[in-house]
Amino acid sequence: MKKTKFAVLDEKNPDRTIIEEAGITIKNGGLVAFPTETVYGLGGDALQSASSRKIYAAKGRPCDNPLIVHICRWEDIEKIAVRIPAAAVKLADAFWPGPLTMILEKSALVPAETTGGLSTVAVRMPSHPAALALIAAAGGYVAAPSANTSGRPSPTRAEHVREDLDGRIDMIVDGGGTEIGLESTIVDLTEPVPVILRPGFVTKEMMEEVLQTAVEVDRSLPAAGQAPRAPGMKYRHYAPRGKMTVVSGDREAVIRTIGRLAAEKRTAGERVGVICTDETKPFYEADCIASAGGGMDAEAAARHLYEILRSFDSRQVTYIYSEAFPGEGIGQAVMNRLLKAAGHHILEVS
Ligand code: AMP
Ligand code: MG
Repeated sequence: MKKTKFAVLDEKNPDRTIIEEAGITIKNGGLVAFPTETVYGLGGDALQSASSRKIYAAKGRPCDNPLIVHICRWEDIEKIAVRIPAAAVKLADAFWPGPLTMILEKSALVPAETTGGLSTVAVRMPSHPAALALIAAAGGYVAAPSANTSGRPSPTRAEHVREDLDGRIDMIVDGGGTEIGLESTIVDLTEPVPVILRPGFVTKEMMEEVLQTAVEVDRSLPAAGQAPRAPGMKYRHYAPRGKMTVVSGDREAVIRTIGRLAAEKRTAGERVGVICTDETKPFYEADCIASAGGGMDAEAAARHLYEILRSFDSRQVTYIYSEAFPGEGIGQAVMNRLLKAAGHHILEVS
């Protein structure tokens, strides 16, 4: 058991000494959790294989599930990626710093441990000022998966990191709640047609507009014996402890169905959680009822989803029923994470 240091950043007046200490810790082979605009990341030096091994161990993450390398200056990409396509330059121009991760061919400098043995590397430049400063202080290349125990929802607050990783890492930098609340979009640029491997805040339409070419979405769940393109996709991610069902369809029917299922389970002695909207919240009776925000506000749903799932876990909810959310813009990413959390258990009602 390690002693994990907690440091709170003042948003308006970020303390350089905290950033410097975090940077030195990473340079020396240690692990620091820090805020980004998407979720909290667990950072280690991406160019030290021992640091990447420590990240997998701290998270309990399978070591063939590669890490995203975070950079803070465009020029730095040339050290870790080769044959960078024109599309990468255009997408970086439009969306970096920001919530977009690009898969590129890796250089020899990136250890196999960081990329889970793959010949490609995932690269992102986050926009959070503290994240950028920390990456610079750490030497420029920070491998940072989400700072949760593998299989739990990603952390959107420093307290979530503490729940999962206290005593397992060197330091947690608390920068308050994250702005977006869902992980970055991942786009694979190693094939002629860009493919979205994970939906996020930057959508297919946004990238098509910039590239002026078609962008595909990888919908396939990996077939038996076939290596998935984003190795993380074969694992059940974002899993709450309760058994979760997403209910989709006509609003009245959704309310009626969730109401009935919740009542049945509660009669059977289960603890039920419901994920709904501000407008539908008054219609439910359950042990925990959480609104993800206004019904039309997909950004609020993105920001609140993981925190709601964690609160259900801590209140020992055994069954979760969630309304489906409109799948436009970041709503696509919200539905992607909800369905993963539910193990793709969806009920269509009318
Ligand atoms: P996390 O950092 O927790 O958001 O997880 C990183 C995600 O990026 C995982 O789903 C990985 O499988 C995916 N990823 C990282 N590197 C690569 C790569 N080289 N090719 C495809 N997917 C990757
Ligand atoms: Mg993750």
